[in-house]
Amino acid sequence: MTYLFEIVLVIYLIIGIFLATIGPAGKDITVEVDRIRGSTLLDAYLEREPPSELKIWIFRAIITAGFVLLWPVFIVGIMKAQRKAKKEDQAFEDKRSQGLWFHYLGGYGSISCNDCMHNESITSFTHGRDSSTAGFQCQECGKFAAIQSGGPGKAAEYKSSLICECGGKFEREKVLFCPECRSKNLSYDMEFIT
Ligand SMILES: [Zn+2]
Ligand SMILES: [Zn+2]
Repeated sequence: MTYLFEIVLVIYLIIGIFLATIGPAGKDITVEVDRIRGSTLLDAYLEREPPSELKIWIFRAIITAGFVLLWPVFIVGIMKAQRKAKKEDQAFEDKRSQGLWFHYLGGYGSISCNDCMHNESITSFTHGRDSSTAGFQCQECGKFAAIQSGGPGKAAEYKSSLICECGGKFEREKVLFCPECRSKNLSYDMEFIT
């Protein structure tokens, strides 16, 4: 008589438990549990009692057990998603280290140059009911422009030319630079956001 089946089963479950606790799935399970736990604001909004700790514990036990039993089904997807999230974080950090970008700012505010102290109000992105206004910068003369776009579904159709009066091109997907000294060492102070 051989115990091969039992041995394989035990190894299988040990791998599952490892992955579900200190392994990569542990974080995902915690995120799911936190989602169930919700927030006091969400509870107030839904007019519900916050879920009891017992319910949360049972929920956690069920998804952990489900994962431990079926880990080969989930593990590839979880690892792919985590690798993708890590890459995105890295890309975000790389971009941020280059300077300010319109799409990470938002709202209306002022930029100030940390090299020459030039200060200027700009629109990064604001939206009303039927249209939005997006910030652009001329890549030649550095002038900032706030350009309105069309209504729903026409966000990429702008109502005025993307060519500056100097002949340069207004761009939104570039690092902001100081119009006076062209430094990229800028700070942004948001005044309001819509
Ligand atoms: Zn400057
Ligand atoms: Zn220009």
